[in-house]
Amino acid sequence: MGSQIQPEEEDEVSELLAVVLDTSFNSALIKEKNVGQLLDAVVIFSNAHLMNSSKNTLAVVACHPHTAKMIYPVKKDSIQNIRPPDAQMEILAHATQVIRDGIKEVVTSWQGVYSIEPLLTGGMALALCYIAKRMANTVGKLNGRILVLSSSGESAHQYLNFMNVFFAAQRKAIVVDSCVIQNDCGLLQQGADITGGNYLKAPSIAGLLEYLLWVFLPPKSLRAKLVLPKPDVVDYRTACFCHRNLIEVGYVCSVCLSIFCQFAPICSTCQTHFKFIGFKQSMVKKKEQKSLQAPLL
Ligand SMILES: [Zn+2]
Ligand SMILES: [Zn+2]
Repeated sequence: MGSQIQPEEEDEVSELLAVVLDTSFNSALIKEKNVGQLLDAVVIFSNAHLMNSSKNTLAVVACHPHTAKMIYPVKKDSIQNIRPPDAQMEILAHATQVIRDGIKEVVTSWQGVYSIEPLLTGGMALALCYIAKRMANTVGKLNGRILVLSSSGESAHQYLNFMNVFFAAQRKAIVVDSCVIQNDCGLLQQGADITGGNYLKAPSIAGLLEYLLWVFLPPKSLRAKLVLPKPDVVDYRTACFCHRNLIEVGYVCSVCLSIFCQFAPICSTCQTHFKFIGFKQSMVKKKEQKSLQAPLL
């Protein structure tokens, strides 16, 4: 047995997990005092990833309405001496403290503004850049993946940014997983489908940690061997460029492929002029005229 396992251990690749955390918690989470439980689950999940292998590394990005900031890892100069509690690994105690301090700093720097969409795409782009930089500077293979944790629901205003991030991630073979809490997000679901990740709406905050450990902790290579929740039908609606509403049917500019929910004579993106000839109405009128003329003949 030992001889069979050995080659796999030698081939063990390092995994870089970037957790993109939406810190503009929705009002229901705050009202039910579940924010602490959510943050605990994120910290424990991050520690579990680091414990999986000594080669594993972690990045955590906090996304607030006004900023997206990398809170872990931080520059060594700013690290204070952290003494781990008994029997806790130093790296885990350090990560826990730095992540907690970082979230506290981001949330308290802009208090009271929860109605604006968080900069999720900014956070994901930051995570992508960090992973790409680490991939370029690492000798050997490094697998990067992103886990987005959000409770804000749809963010149609950032539609184009979402798509840019997803296709960039797909090109670099970076998996984008998403775990949403209470509110579904169709764009994150599309991102998981495009990049080969998992999308899950956590049924309850109480069981969030179990869902994170079950669905999102295993690397992509292991997931095919696990029994995971069946993916839902992907909501592939797109956001119109005029109002940022999610639509199923719309008008597409034949020059720049911008999408609009209503007909506009000038494309607001590329300024192309269109002529609307009223095709259907003219056809209907012709038919009506023919039917009126027929008895006369
Ligand atoms: Zn519109
Ligand atoms: Zn156009």
